[in-house]
Amino acid sequence: MTQPLPSFPYHPDPVATGVVVPSRTACRSCGRVRGYVYTGPVYAEDDLRGRLCPWCIADGSAAGRFEALFTDVLDDVPLDRLHAITRRTPGFAGWQQERWLIHCGDGAAFLGRAGAAELRQRPQAWEAVRAELGRGGWSAEQVEQHLGALSKDGQPTAYLFRCRVCDRWLAYTDAA
Ligand SMILES: [Zn+2]
Ligand SMILES: [Zn+2]
Repeated sequence: MTQPLPSFPYHPDPVATGVVVPSRTACRSCGRVRGYVYTGPVYAEDDLRGRLCPWCIADGSAAGRFEALFTDVLDDVPLDRLHAITRRTPGFAGWQQERWLIHCGDGAAFLGRAGAAELRQRPQAWEAVRAELGRGGWSAEQVEQHLGALSKDGQPTAYLFRCRVCDRWLAYTDAA
């Protein structure tokens, strides 16, 4: 019997995004076989990838015990929110260094990878990627080529978020 997964406000469905998977592996933090492990990035001295249960991530015990972080946040965000995102939220694996997007002063909810088709359905996300690539010095033609080549399951891909405050769709791609 497995209990329902803990809720992660910044990563609402880590099973759907693929970083939490069913497993009979015992968690290195609580020592229990809980039915699921987290397979995303873990920044810690120990090799903990695939060896932590989602409950020990949610309550901060794994981060505390191993001085582990699960993602990186580049933008300014209040410390309590920063800790909630980096220490108590499952991360995700990016092709390059992953970034947690911030909007309205708080971390956005990570919803998974997206390709051109998924972004087109969310024009705010499409425009966010286009604007960022444009700021990176790409020509309009390069930007459109990159956008069109985005693939949910391949490379290049986009990482889709939604602001938890204003519901705006956000995204970035590895190339930016
Ligand atoms: Zn555990
Ligand atoms: Zn917002």
